[in-house]
Amino acid sequence: MKIGVVGCAGRMGRMLVTQITGTGGCDLAGGSEGPGNPHIGEDVATLAGLPASGLTVSDDAAALFAASDAVIDFTAPAATVAHAELAAETGKVLVVGTTGLEDSHQKVLADAAKRTAIVQAPNFSIGVNLLLALTERVAGILDEDYDIEIVEMHHRHKVDAPSGTALGLGRAAAAGRNVSLSDVAQRGRDGITGPRRSGDIGFAVLRGGDVVGDHTVVFAADGERVELTHKASSREVFARGAVRAALWADGKAPGLYSMQDVLGFGS
Ligand code: NAD
Repeated sequence: MKIGVVGCAGRMGRMLVTQITGTGGCDLAGGSEGPGNPHIGEDVATLAGLPASGLTVSDDAAALFAASDAVIDFTAPAATVAHAELAAETGKVLVVGTTGLEDSHQKVLADAAKRTAIVQAPNFSIGVNLLLALTERVAGILDEDYDIEIVEMHHRHKVDAPSGTALGLGRAAAAGRNVSLSDVAQRGRDGITGPRRSGDIGFAVLRGGDVVGDHTVVFAADGERVELTHKASSREVFARGAVRAALWADGKAPGLYSMQDVLGFGS
């Protein structure tokens, strides 16, 4: 399978190029970057610290889709929707790791998924996908006497908050309680907030240093507390999961798939 990487000069992009190069059953098809990116014209593999591949970073995403069987996208929401349209037009598999998508972006992805297979996950690590499944289960077992709070910490460069993973954990907890996250999410507390509303799912966000991604789901009742925690120490886990998702999606019918579909567990 030939896999292309859009945003190949980014932190995740370089990790993906390394992962594809080192994985059996797939070859690197090339990489693209946004117009004006200073790395355009450089060798895609050299940029990732590997021996030269002869493939240069281009700003022509359409050509990359044409040369690929699947494309992996860890970029930014506006770029991701453009890539989803290209995937729909060409029928190529798209794997989306970009977070911070708004409802309008998500709608474009859902429309594109009517024409091709798209795998989207706020987090491609196996551990976090296990955490998602456990969170839904525990939230379904513990009643509203257990207040749910989600705490996340990421590196200082992250631009969206709460993280896509934290929101995914919130959706999993809400699903376990048969409620909609938008009705119970408490995303920012500051000043005189009043007492906590029963049934809310709260989010707390920390940013600093080079933290790859820490998430804890707290179930706090009178007298006891359950905490489920995942800590990523390397971006490699996300790249490994995304490449696994691309290989899994080969030949799948059009649809919007999750990493839980890829791994075969979860809700
Ligand atoms: P980054 O800023 O290092 O990389 C993003 C890259 O996308 C940059 O090189 C940028 O130039 C490029 N880009 C922007 N517009 C483009 C366009 N139109 N065409 C091609 N490339 C374009 O960021 P990062 O840390 O690599 O994270 C990227 C995204 O992936 C973020 O949304 C982040 O939250 C998400 N992420 C998801 C997971 C997951 O498992 N789902 C894990 C890590 C990061």
